[in-house]
Amino acid sequence: MSDCLFCKIVEGEIPCDKIFENDQVIAFRDLNPQAPTHILVIPRKHISTVNELTADDKNIVGEMVLAAQAVAKQEGIEESGYRLVMNCNEGAGQTVFHIHLHIMGGRRMNWPPG
Ligand code: AMP
Ligand code: ZN
Repeated sequence: MSDCLFCKIVEGEIPCDKIFENDQVIAFRDLNPQAPTHILVIPRKHISTVNELTADDKNIVGEMVLAAQAVAKQEGIEESGYRLVMNCNEGAGQTVFHIHLHIMGGRRMNWPPG
């Protein structure tokens, strides 16, 4: 997707503070962090929202969560706790329409989220 911000990050056309990558996913620091640790995991494949996932994407979703687990360990927040969030569509706060898993930690996370 030529006009997708996160596809441009995947292609290296837009820089990011990359902290993890494999053949399926990339993880980088959020530009506008909402917690001391705020990292996004995105698939290399363009998928606009969770609604567009298909059974063929099962492996990608698994890789996203396993990448989040590795990143949490790397950041030292695996014991203190972290939150994984995927916003789907505008009403839930999605602003970039290429799926991404937020990893947030390093502070007390409140529940329910706003
Ligand atoms: P969402 O609101 O769930 O779609 O999350 C999009 C996230 O992407 C927000 O937390 C933004 O701060 C973040 N973001 C937007 N542009 C960039 C960028 N160029 N590099 C890193 N994070 C970004
Ligand atoms: Zn994209």
